[in-house]
Amino acid sequence: MDPFGRTIDYLRISVTDRCNERCLYCMPEGYKGWSKKADHLSAAEIIKVVAASCALGFRKFRLTGGEPLLRKDIEEIAAGIWSLPGVQTLGISTNGVLLARQARGLKQAGVRSVNISLDALDAAIYRNVTGGNVQDVLAGIDAAIAADFEVVKLNCVLLRGINEDQIWPLVQFAAERKMPLRFIELMPMSKIAETDRSRFFSIDEALQILSAYDTPQPLPEYRPGHGPARYYELSHTKARVGFIGAVTTHDFCESCNKLRLTADGRIRPCLGRHGEIDLTPTLRSGGDIEAIIREAILNKPESHAFAECYEPGRPMTAIGG
Ligand code: SAM
Ligand code: SF4
Repeated sequence: MDPFGRTIDYLRISVTDRCNERCLYCMPEGYKGWSKKADHLSAAEIIKVVAASCALGFRKFRLTGGEPLLRKDIEEIAAGIWSLPGVQTLGISTNGVLLARQARGLKQAGVRSVNISLDALDAAIYRNVTGGNVQDVLAGIDAAIAADFEVVKLNCVLLRGINEDQIWPLVQFAAERKMPLRFIELMPMSKIAETDRSRFFSIDEALQILSAYDTPQPLPEYRPGHGPARYYELSHTKARVGFIGAVTTHDFCESCNKLRLTADGRIRPCLGRHGEIDLTPTLRSGGDIEAIIREAILNKPESHAFAECYEPGRPMTAIGG
């Protein structure tokens, strides 16, 4: 329990700050702030941190990045985590580009749920946002469905003037595949124009767009993957659409259940506050990492600072989304 009465039992683990895409909202063009490979936690070190967090009552884990599928040992990391007593669920967040050839292996290694970023179906819009090829991602989605994960969800970051006309096509795409789809408000996680207020498109506006096509009914109990989204079911299409309104939802942080572990071994109690605690010296000298994780829980802020002119330090790709 943290000082605000929240149960903290979810660790999001960034396994790399590297990426094979360069999304407008996540990684500034020409970004060169990569941490050294030697500073990345090894598979064994990541598993050790997860074991320590299990001892403190953590039960839910998600691998992320950067792009986690760029780690050659991603299956070893997943299998090591999944073998630990106390681990109830293990997910991965990916851009999907490499998923077509890795989905089966990830499933066999223990991954239970997969979140795939898909900001547009239109190839040109997708390329504009991410620099990548949407066909690779669509092949990755097919492979994830075929691999029969417990949950496969889609994520779309809302960007005014860039992808709002993709909202309804994405809902139809997700409904046809019976996949939950989440719309995410743009967070100021990068010092670039693309994350300024002019690009911001709220979840309320997205909900209004859906209401023009269908009737959204709230699903207050539905929480696939234990994330922060609030879901609706659309009466006609039966799509299940979640909204992550980190910026506009006033009580967003009240149900926060997570800590983050960065690829370079820092525990970050809140995405939208700068504080981080470096675990690496303790981890590498055989010290008490449980004590540090406990300290991070005790230092978890009540809420993020996005409404207080939050100035990002390192971009999302370096922290882990
Ligand atoms: N590379 C993987 C991917 O794209 O899904 C995993 C890492 S990515 C940082 C995790 C999630 O964070 C993605 O859904 C991405 O869209 C989201 N994200 C990144 N930057 C964001 C921002 N500035 N605001 C809101 N969501 C963001
Ligand atoms: Fe890479 Fe994911 Fe960030 Fe896009 S959102 S640049 S795919 S880490």
